[in-house]
Amino acid sequence: MKQNPDVVVIGGGHAGIEASLASARMGLSTTLITLDALKIGEMSCNPSIGGVGKGQLVKELDALGGEMGRAADATGIQFKRLNSKKGSAVQSSRCQSDKKLYARYMQSTIAAQPHLEVLEAEVKAILTTSGQISGIRVAVKGESEWRTLPTRAVVVTSGTFMKALMHCGNDKSAGGRFGEKASVGLSDSLRELGFTIQRLKTGTPPRLLAGSIDFSQMTVHPGDDPPRLFSFWNTEIKLPQVDCWLTYSNQETHDAIRKDLHRSPLYSGEIRGIGPRYCPSIEDKVVKFPDKPRHVLFFEPEGLDSDWIYPNGISTSLPADVQEAFVKTLPGCQNVRFARYGYAVEYDCIDPRQLSHTFEAKHVPGLFLAGQVNGTSGYEEAAIQGLLAGINAALKVKGEPPFTVSRAESYLGVLVDDLTSMELVEPYRMFTSRAEFRLSLREDNADLRLTPYGRVLGLIGDAEMARFERRQELIARGKETLAATVCKPSPAIDAVLVANGALALAQPTFYAQLLRRPEVGLSDLLTVAPPGFLGDLDPDTAETLEIEVKYAGYIELQRQEIARLAKMSRLAIPETMDYREIAGLSFELKEKLIRQKPATLADISSIPGVTPAAMTAVLFHIRQRGGARVA
Ligand code: FAD
Repeated sequence: MKQNPDVVVIGGGHAGIEASLASARMGLSTTLITLDALKIGEMSCNPSIGGVGKGQLVKELDALGGEMGRAADATGIQFKRLNSKKGSAVQSSRCQSDKKLYARYMQSTIAAQPHLEVLEAEVKAILTTSGQISGIRVAVKGESEWRTLPTRAVVVTSGTFMKALMHCGNDKSAGGRFGEKASVGLSDSLRELGFTIQRLKTGTPPRLLAGSIDFSQMTVHPGDDPPRLFSFWNTEIKLPQVDCWLTYSNQETHDAIRKDLHRSPLYSGEIRGIGPRYCPSIEDKVVKFPDKPRHVLFFEPEGLDSDWIYPNGISTSLPADVQEAFVKTLPGCQNVRFARYGYAVEYDCIDPRQLSHTFEAKHVPGLFLAGQVNGTSGYEEAAIQGLLAGINAALKVKGEPPFTVSRAESYLGVLVDDLTSMELVEPYRMFTSRAEFRLSLREDNADLRLTPYGRVLGLIGDAEMARFERRQELIARGKETLAATVCKPSPAIDAVLVANGALALAQPTFYAQLLRRPEVGLSDLLTVAPPGFLGDLDPDTAETLEIEVKYAGYIELQRQEIARLAKMSRLAIPETMDYREIAGLSFELKEKLIRQKPATLADISSIPGVTPAAMTAVLFHIRQRGGARVA
């Protein structure tokens, strides 16, 4: 065991993996401590990566040099672009992963990573000297005495494990995940360090045996053909692709649940932690939407050689016999056999408003927290937080300036901003609707937005950078060519236009202008353009080029709005400002502002509890009094 690693990462979940890989790749000696090394990379719940809003996070993580996108490509068994019929701003990638292969991929990546060692142990306490991180107290597996491990930075990614309690009906057992123990001591140590500890809850559905299900009674739900990769740096999907199935709950299912609702720990008052509203258990759905005759469910294979099915949509903590009763009412499930029952887990997390934009604790220099412990839910949210925390822990030890990104340039920025300023009322997950500038924050351009940062940080290698630069060049050249080349009226172009329901070409028109017609796509224009017109475009680059040209007007408007807001954030607050006069601010917020005397609007926005509405009220007040001045 390394005696004094530069960085200690607590946790081998999605956040811990990205944090430790980032720190080690930035050259810092890093120790990843986890309760069970064989569970590194375990998917606690759904065997999938991505989804609406979450796909964007994975692409951004990948663009910065994280691992999750590559792992998804290497172990994906079904890929789908969600919202593919909607605008490009809300399209998101998702893949079904082979659960065992995913964990194996992450374990071997960690094993192969220089400067990174894994220690199977339980961290009991975080140690500080003069308020700064100085080490941890750790109970190493097989040793009777706890050890002290000195270190300069600690990243806590304890997920759902701190004081974790699992519920299945009235049965309760300590544990952060099925078959694993709870982490005891760490949340007390965080409390002693001044953190506010909260209690949250999440749940998972039962797992069913595929051989006992009659899938002919469900609808086949295939993936995209061809599948689209997650990672900007991969070129092929290696594993065979499989189907999922779609079905619905019915009145009989809902009756079976209602009959025994009082036995759900959610409704008997046993569970006090707050669960995610947007990811409700099936009992919650039945109660909250009593008029809905059915709820959609997806049956998803857990792997290529696994007989386990993940029934997406029936997360539950009802007792085992009730789970058996209601699942058997589903089409094709009359004879279903269970591999594992669903359960809920309650766990301790912190109030992320105590963290800065680097995920460093404001009051304990050198201590970073990331993932579910910050009150989020989901692998993708956890992973990208881990990456940011790992990068900043490494920068801190190196004595270099911190790395942050704004909400105008990334979903990561949105996540950080929201977590560090909003009151946590339920587990936080990403949605595209959380981002104000989502037309600019698309999946396809995540590399254009973030890869240069990854390169500077040392997380993007030469081969990736060469590929990125080539893509950048193709897009820039493509834009120029489309803007400068005229398409002359001809029977060929008219045939294409009319076939798409567009008007024939009346006069010579620049290709860029033609592409802005809603009915016309880049692939249509390429059928009539001269050979080699835009160079050797791969489908992803063609997509980015098309969006950037088609929506250039809207994208430019967003750019101007972002610039306007950036300027506004530098707006100086007049020294004579009296917050008591501003209508629409809570008493608590007025007190905070009076106490903290922020110098600029940006300083106000970084105060926990300040909402966009409060910002508007302050701005309005300053403008009304004619006091607007850029600092
Ligand atoms: P985790 O994956 O929980 O990993 C935590 C790591 O910390 C583990 O490796 C553990 O061993 C280690 N650890 C903890 N304490 C210590 C200690 N003191 N010392 C050493 N190591 C320690 N997400 C969704 O998006 N949708 C869902 O429906 C959903 N349902 C879920 C249901 C269940 C039952 C569970 C358990 C989780 C569910 N999740 C769901 C959440 C998802 O699993 C997490 O968001 C994600 O795994 C969090 O990643 P993480 O890295 O923060 O923590």
